[in-house]
Amino acid sequence: MYTADGKRYEEMRYRRCGKSGLLLPEISLGLWHNFGSADSFDNMQGMVHTAFDLGITHFDLANNYGPVYGAAEENFGRIMERDMRPYRDEMIISTKAGYDMWPGPYGNFGSRKYLTASIDQSLSRMKLGYVDIFYHHRPDYETPLEETAEALSDIVRSGKALYVGISNYDSERTRRIAEILRENRTPLLINQVRYSMLDRHIERERIPETCRDVGAGVICFSPLAQGVLSDRYLDGIPSDSRAAKNRFLRGDSITPELISKVKALGELAGARGQTLAAMALSWVLRREEITSVLIGASRPEQIRANLAATKGAPFSEEELSKIEEILKK
Ligand code: NDP
Repeated sequence: MYTADGKRYEEMRYRRCGKSGLLLPEISLGLWHNFGSADSFDNMQGMVHTAFDLGITHFDLANNYGPVYGAAEENFGRIMERDMRPYRDEMIISTKAGYDMWPGPYGNFGSRKYLTASIDQSLSRMKLGYVDIFYHHRPDYETPLEETAEALSDIVRSGKALYVGISNYDSERTRRIAEILRENRTPLLINQVRYSMLDRHIERERIPETCRDVGAGVICFSPLAQGVLSDRYLDGIPSDSRAAKNRFLRGDSITPELISKVKALGELAGARGQTLAAMALSWVLRREEITSVLIGASRPEQIRANLAATKGAPFSEEELSKIEEILKK
């Protein structure tokens, strides 16, 4: 039987999510990979316990995380039932709908029909009465934004979610939906977007600034570029790595040029007294608009190692310029 570490709140720092009342841990755990139907249940349980013991209170899911679709929510539901139930009020659990989930025209995108059915399915798989954050997973350019926003607001009013999130929305759509949600009196809590030293699109699109303007937080996914920003691929592609096992990170994208940049970044991290993975997370967290970095993991040790990011020294201007120089080469 699991009993949470009594010192779990001693190390982690928590940041306010936009202008809301909610604090999120600087590091959150996502269940996109390694929580599928063919993965080891003991390992999943170990990762959830390790995270929670380290003060990681936020667990991020989506209806279709698996494979198979729904499996991550089901596995997480089993963990909740087995030993996390006593800690429910200490946890922020999110899920999403917006990508392909079930056959036919009502299992994808952003209609009221899809979102309303999907939250019920997610709650039943996770064996929860409510989620803390319910996200629209991606913008839908065919459905009126008002319909998506109204559906999200009604889900909050029904008590099935406490807060509304959006994911992968650009600045313009973030502003528009934030306005509708404000009128509905269910304010936008957060935008979940991809951001790492290797993926800078949110800087170009000024998404952090937009979120700050509308009073929302930002949570950044794939901050390690799915593991590339670590020592994982320095000596080739290990057979147990994401690049070897998963179509979302292609082995041929990890080129010798990329690895030489990763090595140079690793040296800089070493000079700061950090691993590259920890520096990559600290780098995302250097911006005050960012509420949390959303990591993935394939084993508990990675979560423990990544916690070091919360202890990194602030970056000097010189270090930040050096990072840009390395990336430009
Ligand atoms: P990361 O960039 O953190 O990549 C995680 C992977 O990096 C791990 O699975 C592991 O890969 C490797 N890794 C982690 N820590 C270390 C370490 N210390 N040393 C070496 N390798 C390490 O994030 P993800 O891409 O997994 O995304 C995180 C979460 O973000 C998801 O679970 C999901 O919740 C969310 N997300 C949201 C999306 C959206 O559209 N809203 C899209 C994508 C993700 P390995 O398996 O090789 O060990």
